[in-house]
Amino acid sequence: MADELVQVPAREARAVRVASGGRFRVIDVEGGQVVDLFAFAADDVGEYASAEHTRIWVNRLFPRVGEAFVTNRRRPILWLERDDSPGVHDMLCAACDPTRYRLLGVGGWHASCQENLQGAMAALGHDRVEIPQPINLFMNIPVRDGGELGWEPAPTRAGDSVTLRAETDCIVVVSACPQDIVPINHNNPTPIAVELL
Ligand SMILES: [Zn+2]
Repeated sequence: MADELVQVPAREARAVRVASGGRFRVIDVEGGQVVDLFAFAADDVGEYASAEHTRIWVNRLFPRVGEAFVTNRRRPILWLERDDSPGVHDMLCAACDPTRYRLLGVGGWHASCQENLQGAMAALGHDRVEIPQPINLFMNIPVRDGGELGWEPAPTRAGDSVTLRAETDCIVVVSACPQDIVPINHNNPTPIAVELL
């Protein structure tokens, strides 16, 4: 059976179901693109991967190969199995949302990872979900001396990827972050892909 490849257009999101023990690869197709990754327990979407709980679990600010991402109930839901990227990921920043873009001076509607997540989950019948603090793959937010955050362009090149494994049946949502005001996506949002292995 061929591996399934899910294409996620620039500025959009897709949801995929991953069974317990299933593995998937998140690919930065063109490079320099941040991915907001969300995972919800399939049997209860009130349980979801939580960056703020994961930071405590791993005692680190940022993900590392071999470590788990845990839920708001402090149980592993995903494992970072392999990293074929520069290894720069963020667990500090909330998903972008309509208010964020308004505060950045955008006049009209602007796509956001929050609305992308809500749309992808609604398509599966989950009309109301929490907006978890995401795992921001390939996002480069260095912590400077004194605690200040940097907002640096994603350092990935075309085809870079990470491979994750599900600890439990889950719904994974990946959003190709549409941020084009601050330079995390080189001001040029591009597509991503998810390969179900
Ligand atoms: Zn975003």
